[in-house]
Amino acid sequence: MTGSYPASRYRVPVSAEEEVKGQAARRRTFAIISHPDAGKTTLTEKFLLYAGAVVEAGAVKARAGRRAARSDWMELEQQRGISVSSTVLQFDYRDHVINLLDTPGHRDFSEDTYRVLAAADAAVMVLDAAKGVEPQTRKLFEVCRSRNLPVLTFLNKLDRPGRDPLELLDEIQEQIGLDPAPITWPVGIPGDFRGVLDRRDGSMIRYERTARGTGEAGEQRLSAAEAAESLGELWAAAQESSALLDEVGASFDPKRFLAGESSPLFVGSALTNFGVRHLLDAVVDLAPGPSPARDSSGEQRPLDAPFSGFVFKVQANMNPAHRDHVAFVRVCSGHFERGMVLTHGPSGKPFATKYATSMFGSERNTVDDAWPGDVVGLVNASGLRVGDSLYESAPVAFPPIPTFAPELVASVHPRDLSRFKQFRKGLDQLEQEGVVQVLHRLGGDPNPVLAAVGQMQFEVFAHRMEHELGAAVELGVAQERTVRRTDAQTVPKLQEAGGVELLERRDGTVLAVFPSPYWLSRLENDHPDWTLEAIVNS
Ligand code: GDP
Repeated sequence: MTGSYPASRYRVPVSAEEEVKGQAARRRTFAIISHPDAGKTTLTEKFLLYAGAVVEAGAVKARAGRRAARSDWMELEQQRGISVSSTVLQFDYRDHVINLLDTPGHRDFSEDTYRVLAAADAAVMVLDAAKGVEPQTRKLFEVCRSRNLPVLTFLNKLDRPGRDPLELLDEIQEQIGLDPAPITWPVGIPGDFRGVLDRRDGSMIRYERTARGTGEAGEQRLSAAEAAESLGELWAAAQESSALLDEVGASFDPKRFLAGESSPLFVGSALTNFGVRHLLDAVVDLAPGPSPARDSSGEQRPLDAPFSGFVFKVQANMNPAHRDHVAFVRVCSGHFERGMVLTHGPSGKPFATKYATSMFGSERNTVDDAWPGDVVGLVNASGLRVGDSLYESAPVAFPPIPTFAPELVASVHPRDLSRFKQFRKGLDQLEQEGVVQVLHRLGGDPNPVLAAVGQMQFEVFAHRMEHELGAAVELGVAQERTVRRTDAQTVPKLQEAGGVELLERRDGTVLAVFPSPYWLSRLENDHPDWTLEAIVNS
């Protein structure tokens, strides 16, 4: 091409392969990891605001609220005051397509929260600047680390009094072993936040508040000299901190970021919209697009190979009138077109994709096309399980999605003994779907024990057992436990050490249940050669 035609007037015909690669390169698929109340929902809304996907912040909740009463499933969520899970929000920003995956928190924290990260190419870790690294952030971060996901960090809530940001950097480093590399740095003190020093060029971005943060924040870029003149001491203090960061080598290194060792850090306030644009820009500019996925033999499948994807989440009975199962599929390669007939990996059976949807809030829209990085919701997909592959032409399987050690265990019995057969069948089905883990004590006690990472999993289990599978259950009170995967060599040693309950999964995996984290750390210290893994299978 000579370049004499404006791009908009002259469209170069591209091959199907080039189109897939081009579409993939435009995708950014990421999840927000945070502790409840750090500001995930507020930040999500503000992303949508800056992307122009909503006119006014607050619309996501309102849209969700309107539809929330539609189904039994949502009624259960509503009774518990849980927000309707949207799984993925897709919106355009700067000629890119952003897929923001939801990591349910609060009381709806469950294994799904972890599984969603299997579908992400990056994560944004949101920290409340007054609180720093909190337990749920740490747990989710461990999942990111196990997948080598690049993580961007957002220090949120700087509009109000909080801790010294330098101290927070130390905490991130010490507690999760990630080296923060601040790209922006606050000007002003927590509670009197004027803007940020942009460490890329030494200039300042000054923010102006908008009423209740419903519109974009006013931004003004000042040169260092202008900032010094207008902010005096506050600017000098910010420059001093930034120089200190230079000295300790806290600078952005794309390689270390992509390797999951270092995290570009941005500061701001989701409530007042300060710093939101920079963060969203960084998702586009720094976070990686989809890369060729490794199949279960370790081979990388090119993005432009025929369609393939894997199921990372199954949501059942969102609409009981239709016995609705939605399987969420992350596209790994190729072009998805609604209506295409795929092959379901494990069964080898054809799977028609007539009912493919995408979600916005709780609203479903039909999706006609999807590309690597996108998520497609397949409705009426009761045969699909978490981890299953779907493909076009040559078979492909993807490695299993790792399961993390459960933290809650509960006993379970059928409420009506005459329905024992339904009880057993229901247990099998819900275990296979990954709703809860079903375990048996080593040594023959026939009563099952359920294990989960969140209380909500037990409630979904009980609800579905009663209303869908015809076997109401009695659940014991869930006990918090520290659980680790162990192996045949370690089992007798644990039995001898005592104080450990041993439970077996149907696939033969043995879990060791410790009454407290202290007992586990003592045994770990004394016996570093014992197998005690937090990742249950991978
Ligand atoms: P989530 O649980 O992480 O989704 O947190 P939310 O987005 O629901 O926020 C929890 C609370 O913190 C809400 O009351 C928000 O208004 C508030 N919040 C979120 N971001 C900020 C912020 O930047 N500054 C202040 N002051 N409050 C915030």
